[in-house]
Amino acid sequence: MTTATKNARTEKDEGLNERLAHSGLRLTPQRRHVHEILQQKMDHPTADQVFLRAKDSMPEISMATVYNCLDALVKCDMVKQVNMDRGATRYCCNMRPHSHFYCDDCGSVYDILQTIEPADANFKIPRGFKMQSIETNIHGKCSECSAKAKKN
Ligand SMILES: [Zn+2]
Ligand SMILES: [Zn+2]
Repeated sequence: MTTATKNARTEKDEGLNERLAHSGLRLTPQRRHVHEILQQKMDHPTADQVFLRAKDSMPEISMATVYNCLDALVKCDMVKQVNMDRGATRYCCNMRPHSHFYCDDCGSVYDILQTIEPADANFKIPRGFKMQSIETNIHGKCSECSAKAKKN
């Protein structure tokens, strides 16, 4: 490990540690590992998929521990739960404001960066309500599936 990557990792750990501590939780090797798994491939895996990936480099980790890690990371705002109409909960570690694009053909979920600020959005919010954030779901076909649809 070079000094640069070591420093990057230490900095990241400090952020994660601080967030967890804020929620009264500890940074364990398992929690760090699960967070790394989510960052490695930001394809919104389900808990089952996270478990399979986590086991690759940490064979002793159990499904229950993975659930516990995901719970802890969600609680301290390092990971978001993404719920689709059908299917299992997925996990997303992109904490910048974004929406999700769901491909109705292959089921993939993509992050779409959001540029609408709540103040600029033209929503009919009832009087007395205060909008804090916007999260929209976009449905359609991803580039691969649209290309396939054209061929057929
Ligand atoms: Zn697709
Ligand atoms: Zn996302």
